[in-house]
Amino acid sequence: MNLKIGCISGDGIGPEIVKEAVKVLEQVAKKYGHTMEYTQILMGGASIDVHGVPLTEDAVKTAKEQEAVLMGSIGGDPNTSPWYQLEPSKRPEAGLLKIRKELNLFANLRPAVLYPQLAGACPLKEEISKKGFDMLIMRELTGGLYFGERKTTEENGVVTAVDTLVYTEEEIRRIAIKGFEIAAKRKGKVTSVDKANVLDSSRLWRKVVNEVAVNYPQVTLEHMLVDNCAMQLVKDPAQFDVILTENMFGDILSDEASMVTGSIGMLASASLNDSKFGLYEPSHGSAPDIAGKNIANPIATILSAAMMLKYSFDLDQEAAAIEEAVSKVLDQGYRTGDIMSEGCTLVSCSEMGDRIAEEI
Ligand code: NAD
Repeated sequence: MNLKIGCISGDGIGPEIVKEAVKVLEQVAKKYGHTMEYTQILMGGASIDVHGVPLTEDAVKTAKEQEAVLMGSIGGDPNTSPWYQLEPSKRPEAGLLKIRKELNLFANLRPAVLYPQLAGACPLKEEISKKGFDMLIMRELTGGLYFGERKTTEENGVVTAVDTLVYTEEEIRRIAIKGFEIAAKRKGKVTSVDKANVLDSSRLWRKVVNEVAVNYPQVTLEHMLVDNCAMQLVKDPAQFDVILTENMFGDILSDEASMVTGSIGMLASASLNDSKFGLYEPSHGSAPDIAGKNIANPIATILSAAMMLKYSFDLDQEAAAIEEAVSKVLDQGYRTGDIMSEGCTLVSCSEMGDRIAEEI
């Protein structure tokens, strides 16, 4: 199979971690007989330096011509980088918002996995962390409170601010379908999270999710209120497989879930549209504090590449080979600085990439 992949190296540690992900992908290509065709795309600070804007129309066009895009991370240190002297619409992050909108990336997937080898990094009690967990938060990314009408008014000296939470049936249905399809490829359970005891938008969410569930008899569906879910994530995270939720709840819960793993350098993510196209990137930022030192953890980006193989190319076996290679290297005790613990061997970013590629 020939895979057309766009590559956004980005800023900070971005180029270092993407290089390692490509190294691992090349090893997969060799072993399983695929060819990978990479097209470089400029975005974020790197694009500002060349074009004065964080994402050009040409870059969007090039991204649309790919089957999937692998990205490092974008942005600099907001306190020192000249990119942040620009008006907000010209800053690095504006590129990310633009590409999500242009490519209609409405489904954000963030796995939160506690590897048994890294259980020590988990801030929860041992009796909870020893069970491990492997969940995926599926967040609606283009609707809800963050995109509804907003205004601030003043009347008789009283200032009032209003934000609007809007969801249409179609917006809910398309993400619910993605959620069930992905759960069917995983452990077969969807926990749909809402606030149906208060919000109309949540009651519609629950109704549409129930309708979609009928088409996936192999997947178990449960509904959970968002406040309960926030508690359950720290009380018993092993109960979850796919958490399906709207934009703002997903924003908050996905950060909570990633903190519970204790290892930000390990967490992948994907944003999908309603075709097979996706943008795959680590959950962390561009870590300008450690950029250029070859000490970043490339695993989140390598696991994002595995998600790309699974969700954009249906190469489940190849994706599993990457995940197993990561696990083996952790078993062997190799660690980058961010996940280092006593008795383990400290390796650089590129050595970590080498070790994982060797295990494919
Ligand atoms: P960050 O995730 O970049 O860094 C937080 C801390 O975690 C830092 O100490 C960093 O060194 C460490 N860290 C992060 N990734 C690591 C890795 N792979 N290996 C080892 N250590 C790692 O968050 P921040 O400092 O708040 O943001 C820095 C820049 O990244 C900002 O410009 C921000 O806007 C941007 N950002 C971009 C994205 C994205 O591209 N999607 C996401 C979040 C933040």
